Amino acid sequence: MNKVWELLQEEDTVVLFDVDGTLTDYSYGTFHAHHDLDFTPEFRDVNIYADCQRLLPMYSYIKKHGTERIFCISREPHGHEAWKTEMLGRLYGIPESHCFYTLESEDKPALALQIIKDHFGDLSPKKVVCVDDNDVTLGMYMKQTEFCTAHPMLFMAHIQELLGASAEA
Ligand SMILES: [Mg+2]
Repeated sequence: MNKVWELLQEEDTVVLFDVDGTLTDYSYGTFHAHHDLDFTPEFRDVNIYADCQRLLPMYSYIKKHGTERIFCISREPHGHEAWKTEMLGRLYGIPESHCFYTLESEDKPALALQIIKDHFGDLSPKKVVCVDDNDVTLGMYMKQTEFCTAHPMLFMAHIQELLGASAEA
């Protein structure tokens, strides 16, 4: 039986969220998930985050949990860091100082370990949940850290609970 949802409800749990496909719905293009200019040099000048919508299950969770123990770790090879950070603040209230970027997904586990060490010292790794929509990345977290992992669909599975909590707040 999976215990991660239970763990996510505990006040002192730290959550490290991926961004694209986790806190966004990844519908950047007109007829594709990717923006039409993705894979071209021109893509660097397009703010794909300007039109992003808040994902209610994730928003409700973050609102209830508070942002003190919420961080973002995102692969960002296109120079979109500032726009992505602005979106995370605007839609989810996540502070700029909690947004971290890597050029390669392979660097995410090491960055996660560093964030936890810098902010929480020797916190038990079983008080940390890494949420990512990429199963290869989830596997890297599992192999290279002792942190717990979750796919964003876990939040969808608990949508009624999350939206009910939000309506009461
Ligand atoms: Mg992703």
